[in-house]
Amino acid sequence: MKKVGILVGHYGSGTGATTSEKDEWALCCMDAIQLSTLLTRDGIVEPVLIGVNRNEHPWDLVQKVSRISPPSFLGGWGNIDIRAAWAIREGVDAAIEFHINSHRTPVEGHEVFIRRAPGPLTRRLGQCLINKMECLRNSNRGLKHKSFRILRKLHAADIPAAILEPAFLTEDSLDSTEWRDKYVSAVRTALYHFFHL
Ligand SMILES: [Zn+2]
Repeated sequence: MKKVGILVGHYGSGTGATTSEKDEWALCCMDAIQLSTLLTRDGIVEPVLIGVNRNEHPWDLVQKVSRISPPSFLGGWGNIDIRAAWAIREGVDAAIEFHINSHRTPVEGHEVFIRRAPGPLTRRLGQCLINKMECLRNSNRGLKHKSFRILRKLHAADIPAAILEPAFLTEDSLDSTEWRDKYVSAVRTALYHFFHL
């Protein structure tokens, strides 16, 4: 069975973007858990949920991702590196990371990031995701290329990876359960499409 890493951005470091009522990390956790639940129920792609339990001690995390364990090793790990190493250790066939966008000025829309100079599989993953996200009905800001650290780390291990930004934190649609369900179900369909299922 194919395995997909479902990563939550900003795990272990702040909350990501916030407004007075909303917090990026918390919203992303809900979406990631929902996707993981749906995939588990379907039973055709195995989800590996990464970054939803902030109570885990960094040392436990390092042991989860690596067999190397000198104490001095801990200091060298950033949270992004932990997420990447965890996905690599689990042997995932693809990885997506949940985020919600933010900007100083009011902007709206969805976008997907893949690294610069992506391989064909990464390009295909990004394309599947951006296509299915069309149903969100906010502006399509497109498939973008930016070599974020998490994308570089996963690429180095030959794992196709993409970052999801379905909306900006200021968009009212994020308050709608119906809209969020539609989003998670679009991601699920995109993954099945990507894996030819
Ligand atoms: Zn973010």
